[in-house]
Amino acid sequence: MEGQYQLGTLEFTLNDIRNDRPGLREKLLRAKLKKIYPHCQCTDPQPQVVIAELNGDLHLRGFPRRGHFHDRGCEHYRPDPAGSAASLYEPAIKVREDGGVDYKLAFSLSVKKGESERTVTTPAGRAPGTKRGAIGLLGLLHDLWMRADLDSYDPALKRRRGWDLRWGSEVAKMLGQEVAESTFGRRGNDKLLVVGQGGENAVTGTDWKTFRAALIPSGTEAPLGLVIGLVKELGPSKFGGVLDLEFGKERLWMDRQVFESLGRSFKTELAMLKEQDPLRDQKWEAIQALMEKNPEPMQALNEVWPGEVVAIALVKLSSTDKISVVKMALMATSRQFVPVDSLYERDVAHALADQDRRFTKPLRYDEGRDITLPDFLLSDTEQTTPMEIYGVSGNADYEARKAVKRATYLTAGQHCWEWTPAEEKTWPAFPAKSFKK
Ligand SMILES: [Zn+2]
Repeated sequence: MEGQYQLGTLEFTLNDIRNDRPGLREKLLRAKLKKIYPHCQCTDPQPQVVIAELNGDLHLRGFPRRGHFHDRGCEHYRPDPAGSAASLYEPAIKVREDGGVDYKLAFSLSVKKGESERTVTTPAGRAPGTKRGAIGLLGLLHDLWMRADLDSYDPALKRRRGWDLRWGSEVAKMLGQEVAESTFGRRGNDKLLVVGQGGENAVTGTDWKTFRAALIPSGTEAPLGLVIGLVKELGPSKFGGVLDLEFGKERLWMDRQVFESLGRSFKTELAMLKEQDPLRDQKWEAIQALMEKNPEPMQALNEVWPGEVVAIALVKLSSTDKISVVKMALMATSRQFVPVDSLYERDVAHALADQDRRFTKPLRYDEGRDITLPDFLLSDTEQTTPMEIYGVSGNADYEARKAVKRATYLTAGQHCWEWTPAEEKTWPAFPAKSFKK
Protein backbone atom coordinates (compact mmCIF):
# COMPACT_ATOMS: atom_id res chain seq x y z
CA MET A 1 0.00 0.00 0.00
CA GLU A 2 1.19 3.50 -0.85
CA GLY A 3 2.10 5.54 2.26
CA GLN A 4 -0.29 8.34 3.27
CA TYR A 5 0.92 11.45 5.06
CA GLN A 6 -0.61 14.41 6.79
CA LEU A 7 0.80 17.90 7.31
CA GLY A 8 -1.71 20.03 9.20
CA THR A 9 -4.84 19.74 7.10
CA LEU A 10 -2.89 18.73 4.00
CA GLU A 11 -2.98 15.05 3.00
CA PHE A 12 -0.66 13.59 0.42
CA THR A 13 1.08 10.42 -0.79
CA LEU A 14 4.58 9.80 -2.05
CA ASN A 15 3.15 9.58 -5.53
CA ASP A 16 1.95 13.16 -5.12
CA ILE A 17 5.52 14.24 -4.35
CA ARG A 18 6.91 12.24 -7.24
CA ASN A 19 4.30 13.57 -9.68
CA ASP A 20 4.86 17.11 -8.42
CA ARG A 21 1.26 17.78 -7.35
CA PRO A 22 0.71 21.54 -7.80
CA GLY A 23 1.76 23.55 -4.75
CA LEU A 24 2.93 20.53 -2.72
CA ARG A 25 6.65 21.04 -3.14
CA GLU A 26 6.48 24.66 -1.94
CA LYS A 27 4.43 23.65 1.12
CA LEU A 28 6.84 20.86 2.04
CA LEU A 29 9.88 23.07 1.59
CA ARG A 30 8.29 25.72 3.83
CA ALA A 31 7.49 23.08 6.46
CA LYS A 32 11.07 21.77 6.27
CA LEU A 33 12.41 25.27 6.86
CA LYS A 34 10.10 25.80 9.82
CA LYS A 35 10.94 22.32 11.15
CA ILE A 36 7.35 21.11 10.99
CA TYR A 37 7.04 17.38 10.40
CA PRO A 38 4.43 15.45 8.42
CA HIS A 39 2.78 12.50 10.12
CA CYS A 40 2.76 9.02 8.62
CA GLN A 41 -0.75 7.57 8.71
CA CYS A 42 0.34 3.93 8.91
CA THR A 43 -0.75 3.59 12.54
CA ASP A 44 -2.27 5.45 15.50
CA PRO A 45 -0.69 7.53 17.04
CA GLN A 46 0.82 8.73 13.78
CA PRO A 47 4.61 8.85 13.86
CA GLN A 48 6.46 11.86 12.46
CA VAL A 49 8.67 11.72 9.38
CA VAL A 50 11.43 14.05 8.23
CA ILE A 51 11.35 15.92 4.93
CA ALA A 52 14.70 15.39 3.22
CA GLU A 53 16.11 16.85 0.05
CA LEU A 54 18.59 14.97 -2.10
CA ASN A 55 19.86 16.22 -5.44
CA GLY A 56 16.89 18.59 -5.64
CA ASP A 57 14.32 15.82 -5.08
CA LEU A 58 12.18 15.76 -1.95
CA HIS A 59 11.59 12.54 -0.08
CA LEU A 60 10.50 11.46 3.37
CA ARG A 61 12.46 9.44 5.85
CA GLY A 62 11.75 8.14 9.32
CA PHE A 63 12.71 10.16 12.39
CA PRO A 64 16.07 8.97 13.83
CA ARG A 65 15.59 6.11 16.31
CA ARG A 66 11.81 6.05 16.03
CA GLY A 67 11.32 3.59 13.15
CA HIS A 68 9.76 1.06 15.53
CA PHE A 69 6.78 3.39 16.11
CA HIS A 70 5.63 2.77 12.52
CA ASP A 71 3.45 -0.14 11.48
CA ARG A 72 5.56 -3.17 10.57
CA GLY A 73 4.18 -3.05 7.03
CA CYS A 74 5.19 0.62 6.64
CA GLU A 75 8.40 1.31 4.78
CA HIS A 76 9.59 3.64 7.55
CA TYR A 77 9.47 0.74 9.97
CA ARG A 78 12.85 -0.10 11.52
CA PRO A 79 13.59 -2.45 14.42
CA ASP A 80 13.86 -0.81 17.84
CA PRO A 81 17.37 0.70 18.14
CA ALA A 82 17.48 -0.76 21.65
CA GLY A 83 18.36 -3.95 19.74
CA SER A 84 21.65 -2.42 18.54
CA ALA A 85 24.51 -1.01 20.58
CA ALA A 86 23.00 2.49 20.13
CA SER A 87 21.10 2.36 23.42
CA LEU A 88 24.38 2.07 25.36
CA TYR A 89 25.42 5.48 24.03
CA GLU A 90 22.45 7.55 25.16
CA PRO A 91 24.59 9.88 27.31
CA ALA A 92 26.97 10.46 24.37
CA ILE A 93 24.29 10.98 21.71
CA LYS A 94 21.77 13.71 22.42
CA VAL A 95 18.92 13.82 19.89
CA ARG A 96 17.66 17.41 19.70
CA GLU A 97 14.02 18.44 19.27
CA ASP A 98 14.63 19.22 15.59
CA GLY A 99 16.03 15.72 14.88
CA GLY A 100 19.68 16.89 14.90
CA VAL A 101 22.25 15.28 17.22
CA ASP A 102 24.87 16.55 19.68
CA TYR A 103 27.74 14.09 20.12
CA LYS A 104 30.20 13.80 22.96
CA LEU A 105 33.35 12.37 21.41
CA ALA A 106 35.78 9.99 23.13
CA PHE A 107 38.67 11.94 21.63
CA SER A 108 39.63 15.58 21.43
CA LEU A 109 39.51 17.61 18.22
CA SER A 110 42.54 19.65 19.17
CA VAL A 111 45.83 19.21 20.98
CA LYS A 112 47.93 21.74 22.87
CA LYS A 113 51.42 22.34 21.54
CA GLY A 114 53.80 19.70 22.84
CA GLU A 115 50.96 17.38 23.84
CA SER A 116 50.71 14.04 22.04
CA GLU A 117 47.44 13.51 20.18
CA ARG A 118 47.54 9.86 21.23
CA THR A 119 47.02 10.74 24.88
CA VAL A 120 43.74 12.55 24.15
CA THR A 121 42.36 9.66 22.12
CA THR A 122 42.76 6.84 24.63
CA PRO A 123 39.30 5.64 25.64
CA ALA A 124 38.73 5.13 29.34
CA GLY A 125 38.40 1.52 30.47
CA ARG A 126 34.77 0.49 30.79
CA ALA A 127 32.75 -2.47 31.86
CA PRO A 128 30.53 -4.31 29.38
CA GLY A 129 26.89 -3.23 29.53
CA THR A 130 27.47 0.12 31.27
CA LYS A 131 26.42 3.35 29.56
CA ARG A 132 29.01 5.15 27.47
CA GLY A 133 29.58 8.83 28.20
CA ALA A 134 31.45 9.37 24.94
CA ILE A 135 31.52 7.88 21.46
CA GLY A 136 34.57 6.62 19.51
CA LEU A 137 35.38 6.72 15.79
CA LEU A 138 33.53 3.58 14.68
CA GLY A 139 30.61 4.40 16.98
CA LEU A 140 30.26 7.81 15.35
CA LEU A 141 30.37 6.30 11.86
CA HIS A 142 27.76 3.69 12.84
CA ASP A 143 25.47 6.32 14.34
CA LEU A 144 25.62 8.55 11.24
CA TRP A 145 25.01 5.43 9.14
CA MET A 146 21.92 4.54 11.13
CA ARG A 147 20.58 8.12 11.02
CA ALA A 148 20.95 8.14 7.23
CA ASP A 149 18.98 4.86 7.10
CA LEU A 150 21.96 3.08 5.54
CA ASP A 151 21.91 0.24 8.10
CA SER A 152 18.87 -1.21 6.36
CA TYR A 153 18.12 -2.57 2.93
CA ASP A 154 14.63 -1.92 1.67
CA PRO A 155 13.57 -2.96 -1.85
CA ALA A 156 10.68 -0.44 -1.74
CA LEU A 157 13.15 2.41 -1.29
CA LYS A 158 15.33 1.12 -4.08
CA ARG A 159 12.38 0.82 -6.44
CA ARG A 160 11.15 4.29 -5.58
CA ARG A 161 14.52 5.95 -5.98
CA GLY A 162 15.11 3.94 -9.11
CA TRP A 163 18.83 3.73 -8.59
CA ASP A 164 21.50 1.67 -6.95
CA LEU A 165 23.23 3.60 -4.21
CA ARG A 166 26.48 5.23 -5.24
CA TRP A 167 28.95 6.88 -2.93
CA GLY A 168 29.39 10.20 -4.72
CA SER A 169 25.88 11.02 -5.78
CA GLU A 170 23.97 9.54 -2.84
CA VAL A 171 25.69 7.95 0.16
CA ALA A 172 28.16 10.78 0.83
CA LYS A 173 25.34 13.32 0.45
CA MET A 174 23.05 11.43 2.83
CA LEU A 175 25.86 11.33 5.42
CA GLY A 176 26.68 14.98 4.74
CA GLN A 177 23.08 15.94 5.54
CA GLU A 178 23.33 14.18 8.90
CA VAL A 179 26.70 15.78 9.66
CA ALA A 180 25.21 19.20 8.86
CA GLU A 181 22.63 18.56 11.60
CA SER A 182 25.24 17.42 14.15
CA THR A 183 27.52 19.14 16.63
CA PHE A 184 30.57 17.78 18.40
CA GLY A 185 30.70 19.41 21.82
CA ARG A 186 32.09 22.92 21.48
CA ARG A 187 33.24 22.08 17.96
CA GLY A 188 31.03 22.71 14.99
CA ASN A 189 30.40 20.25 12.20
CA ASP A 190 32.98 21.97 9.96
CA LYS A 191 35.52 19.67 11.64
CA LEU A 192 34.10 16.65 9.82
CA LEU A 193 34.49 16.22 6.07
CA VAL A 194 32.53 13.58 4.18
CA VAL A 195 34.69 13.17 1.09
CA GLY A 196 32.72 13.25 -2.15
CA GLN A 197 29.50 14.84 -0.83
CA GLY A 198 30.00 18.22 -2.43
CA GLY A 199 29.11 17.45 -6.05
CA GLU A 200 30.87 20.23 -7.98
CA ASN A 201 32.86 21.14 -4.86
CA ALA A 202 34.15 17.58 -4.64
CA VAL A 203 35.33 17.75 -8.24
CA THR A 204 37.03 21.13 -7.84
CA GLY A 205 38.36 20.22 -4.41
CA THR A 206 36.80 23.26 -2.66
CA ASP A 207 35.54 21.15 0.27
CA TRP A 208 38.95 19.62 0.70
CA LYS A 209 40.73 23.00 0.66
CA THR A 210 38.39 24.45 3.30
CA PHE A 211 38.87 21.40 5.51
CA ARG A 212 42.64 21.51 5.13
CA ALA A 213 42.75 25.21 6.02
CA ALA A 214 40.90 24.40 9.27
CA LEU A 215 43.75 22.05 10.27
CA ILE A 216 46.46 24.75 10.27
CA PRO A 217 47.79 25.16 13.83
CA SER A 218 47.24 28.53 15.50
CA GLY A 219 49.12 29.81 18.54
CA THR A 220 49.32 27.07 21.13
CA GLU A 221 46.72 24.80 19.59
CA ALA A 222 46.85 22.22 16.78
CA PRO A 223 43.40 21.33 15.45
CA LEU A 224 42.45 17.78 14.47
CA GLY A 225 39.73 16.91 11.97
CA LEU A 226 37.57 13.96 10.99
CA VAL A 227 37.38 12.48 7.50
CA ILE A 228 34.80 9.94 6.29
CA GLY A 229 35.41 8.45 2.86
CA LEU A 230 35.09 5.44 0.60
CA VAL A 231 38.38 3.53 0.47
CA LYS A 232 39.84 3.33 -3.03
CA GLU A 233 43.15 1.82 -2.05
CA LEU A 234 45.04 1.16 1.18
CA GLY A 235 48.62 -0.02 1.18
CA PRO A 236 52.05 0.19 2.77
CA SER A 237 54.32 3.22 2.33
CA LYS A 238 57.94 3.89 3.23
CA PHE A 239 57.07 4.98 6.78
CA GLY A 240 53.86 3.05 7.41
CA GLY A 241 50.77 3.17 5.22
CA VAL A 242 48.87 5.34 2.77
CA LEU A 243 45.15 5.64 2.06
CA ASP A 244 43.45 6.81 -1.15
CA LEU A 245 39.78 7.80 -0.94
CA GLU A 246 37.29 8.09 -3.81
CA PHE A 247 37.08 11.81 -4.70
CA GLY A 248 39.98 12.45 -2.28
CA LYS A 249 42.20 15.30 -3.42
CA GLU A 250 45.14 14.17 -1.32
CA ARG A 251 46.36 10.91 0.12
CA LEU A 252 46.15 10.23 3.85
CA TRP A 253 49.43 9.07 5.42
CA MET A 254 49.93 6.98 8.54
CA ASP A 255 52.87 5.80 10.58
CA ARG A 256 53.74 2.16 11.10
CA GLN A 257 51.92 1.94 14.44
CA VAL A 258 48.60 3.11 12.96
CA PHE A 259 49.00 0.99 9.82
CA GLU A 260 49.80 -2.20 11.70
CA SER A 261 46.91 -1.70 14.12
CA LEU A 262 44.54 -1.84 11.11
CA GLY A 263 45.75 -5.34 10.29
CA ARG A 264 44.86 -6.48 13.80
CA SER A 265 41.47 -4.78 14.15
CA PHE A 266 39.96 -4.82 10.66
CA LYS A 267 40.59 -8.24 9.13
CA THR A 268 37.25 -8.40 7.26
CA GLU A 269 37.82 -4.96 5.75
CA LEU A 270 41.33 -5.82 4.56
CA ALA A 271 40.06 -9.11 3.10
CA MET A 272 37.37 -7.16 1.23
CA LEU A 273 39.98 -4.76 -0.21
CA LYS A 274 42.05 -7.75 -1.29
CA GLU A 275 39.04 -9.14 -3.17
CA GLN A 276 38.66 -5.75 -4.89
CA ASP A 277 42.29 -5.73 -6.09
CA PRO A 278 41.96 -7.89 -9.24
CA LEU A 279 38.85 -5.91 -10.28
CA ARG A 280 40.37 -2.44 -10.02
CA ASP A 281 41.34 -2.13 -13.73
CA GLN A 282 37.87 -3.31 -14.70
CA LYS A 283 36.35 -0.66 -12.41
CA TRP A 284 38.44 2.06 -14.01
CA GLU A 285 37.32 0.96 -17.48
CA ALA A 286 33.69 0.82 -16.32
CA ILE A 287 33.92 4.40 -15.01
CA GLN A 288 35.36 5.54 -18.34
CA ALA A 289 32.53 3.79 -20.19
CA LEU A 290 29.97 5.39 -17.87
CA MET A 291 31.32 8.83 -18.77
CA GLU A 292 30.75 7.92 -22.40
CA LYS A 293 27.17 7.03 -21.47
CA ASN A 294 27.66 3.28 -21.70
CA PRO A 295 26.39 1.74 -18.42
CA GLU A 296 26.89 -1.92 -19.41
CA PRO A 297 30.45 -2.46 -18.11
CA MET A 298 29.41 -0.94 -14.74
CA GLN A 299 26.34 -3.17 -14.56
CA ALA A 300 28.52 -6.20 -15.27
CA LEU A 301 31.00 -5.12 -12.59
CA ASN A 302 28.22 -4.60 -10.05
CA GLU A 303 27.36 -8.28 -10.37
CA VAL A 304 30.77 -9.35 -9.13
CA TRP A 305 31.98 -6.40 -7.02
CA PRO A 306 32.78 -7.82 -3.54
CA GLY A 307 31.51 -4.88 -1.47
CA GLU A 308 32.83 -1.59 -0.12
CA VAL A 309 35.08 -0.39 2.69
CA VAL A 310 34.43 2.95 4.40
CA ALA A 311 37.04 4.75 6.51
CA ILE A 312 36.66 7.25 9.34
CA ALA A 313 39.92 8.92 10.30
CA LEU A 314 41.07 11.43 12.88
CA VAL A 315 43.68 13.51 11.07
CA LYS A 316 46.11 16.39 11.52
CA LEU A 317 48.56 18.32 9.37
CA SER A 318 52.04 16.81 9.68
CA SER A 319 55.21 18.87 10.04
CA THR A 320 55.81 18.19 6.33
CA ASP A 321 52.34 19.59 5.49
CA LYS A 322 50.80 16.24 4.68
CA ILE A 323 47.46 15.01 6.01
CA SER A 324 48.38 12.43 8.55
CA VAL A 325 46.16 9.87 10.29
CA VAL A 326 46.20 9.87 14.10
CA LYS A 327 43.65 7.09 14.44
CA MET A 328 41.40 5.28 12.00
CA ALA A 329 38.53 2.79 11.86
CA LEU A 330 37.29 0.83 8.84
CA MET A 331 33.85 -0.59 8.07
CA ALA A 332 33.05 -3.22 5.43
CA THR A 333 29.67 -3.05 3.68
CA SER A 334 27.74 -4.98 1.09
CA ARG A 335 27.43 -3.57 -2.45
CA GLN A 336 24.30 -1.80 -1.17
CA PHE A 337 26.29 -0.16 1.67
CA VAL A 338 24.77 -2.29 4.46
CA PRO A 339 27.55 -2.85 7.06
CA VAL A 340 28.81 -6.42 7.51
CA ASP A 341 31.13 -7.99 10.09
CA SER A 342 32.37 -10.88 7.94
CA LEU A 343 32.54 -12.03 4.33
CA TYR A 344 29.91 -14.69 5.16
CA GLU A 345 27.59 -11.90 6.27
CA ARG A 346 28.40 -10.04 3.07
CA ASP A 347 27.35 -13.07 0.97
CA VAL A 348 24.08 -13.39 2.89
CA ALA A 349 23.42 -9.61 2.58
CA HIS A 350 23.84 -9.86 -1.20
CA ALA A 351 21.52 -12.89 -1.40
CA LEU A 352 18.86 -11.07 0.69
CA ALA A 353 19.05 -8.02 -1.59
CA ASP A 354 18.83 -10.23 -4.70
CA GLN A 355 15.64 -11.73 -3.27
CA ASP A 356 14.16 -8.27 -2.52
CA ARG A 357 14.14 -8.81 1.23
CA ARG A 358 13.98 -6.05 3.83
CA PHE A 359 16.58 -6.31 6.57
CA THR A 360 18.60 -4.32 9.08
CA LYS A 361 22.13 -4.73 10.40
CA PRO A 362 22.23 -4.07 14.18
CA LEU A 363 25.37 -1.99 14.56
CA ARG A 364 28.04 -2.60 17.18
CA TYR A 365 29.37 0.95 17.60
CA ASP A 366 32.65 0.68 19.57
CA GLU A 367 31.67 -2.53 21.34
CA GLY A 368 33.19 -5.05 18.92
CA ARG A 369 32.46 -8.62 19.94
CA ASP A 370 31.79 -7.62 23.56
CA ILE A 371 28.12 -7.11 22.81
CA THR A 372 25.72 -9.88 21.80
CA LEU A 373 23.66 -8.85 18.75
CA PRO A 374 22.05 -10.80 15.91
CA ASP A 375 23.95 -10.48 12.63
CA PHE A 376 20.85 -9.25 10.78
CA LEU A 377 17.17 -8.68 11.50
CA LEU A 378 14.80 -9.73 8.74
CA SER A 379 11.79 -7.41 9.05
CA ASP A 380 9.47 -8.49 6.22
CA THR A 381 8.48 -11.73 7.99
CA GLU A 382 5.42 -12.07 10.23
CA GLN A 383 7.62 -11.47 13.26
CA THR A 384 11.04 -9.88 12.97
CA THR A 385 13.46 -12.76 12.44
CA PRO A 386 16.97 -12.60 13.92
CA MET A 387 19.63 -14.08 11.62
CA GLU A 388 22.80 -15.68 12.92
CA ILE A 389 25.82 -16.75 10.93
CA TYR A 390 28.11 -18.86 13.08
CA GLY A 391 31.30 -18.34 11.09
CA VAL A 392 33.90 -19.37 13.67
CA SER A 393 34.37 -22.92 14.90
CA GLY A 394 36.61 -24.40 17.57
CA ASN A 395 36.91 -21.20 19.65
CA ALA A 396 35.69 -21.68 23.24
CA ASP A 397 34.60 -18.04 23.81
CA TYR A 398 32.69 -18.02 20.56
CA GLU A 399 31.01 -21.35 21.30
CA ALA A 400 29.96 -20.02 24.72
CA ARG A 401 28.42 -16.87 23.16
CA LYS A 402 26.67 -19.03 20.58
CA ALA A 403 25.11 -21.16 23.34
CA VAL A 404 23.92 -18.01 25.16
CA LYS A 405 22.37 -16.65 21.95
CA ARG A 406 20.54 -19.89 21.18
CA ALA A 407 19.19 -20.09 24.73
CA THR A 408 18.01 -16.46 24.58
CA TYR A 409 16.08 -17.01 21.35
CA LEU A 410 14.59 -20.22 22.73
CA THR A 411 13.44 -18.50 25.94
CA ALA A 412 11.94 -15.62 23.96
CA GLY A 413 10.14 -18.13 21.72
CA GLN A 414 11.74 -16.41 18.76
CA HIS A 415 12.48 -18.26 15.57
CA CYS A 416 16.06 -17.63 14.52
CA TRP A 417 17.51 -18.26 11.06
CA GLU A 418 20.96 -19.87 11.42
CA TRP A 419 23.83 -20.77 9.15
CA THR A 420 27.02 -22.52 10.20
CA PRO A 421 29.33 -22.36 7.14
CA ALA A 422 31.66 -25.06 8.52
CA GLU A 423 28.73 -27.52 8.48
CA GLU A 424 26.79 -26.41 5.39
CA LYS A 425 28.44 -24.95 2.34
CA THR A 426 25.42 -22.88 1.33
CA TRP A 427 22.97 -21.19 3.64
CA PRO A 428 19.47 -22.54 4.31
CA ALA A 429 16.47 -20.88 2.60
CA PHE A 430 15.32 -17.61 4.15
CA PRO A 431 11.97 -17.56 6.01
CA ALA A 432 8.99 -16.62 3.81
CA LYS A 433 8.01 -12.98 3.31
CA SER A 434 4.73 -11.90 4.86
CA PHE A 435 4.68 -8.33 3.54
CA LYS A 436 4.20 -8.21 -0.20
CA LYS A 437 5.89 -4.99 -1.15
ZN1 LIG B 1 4.65 4.74 8.82
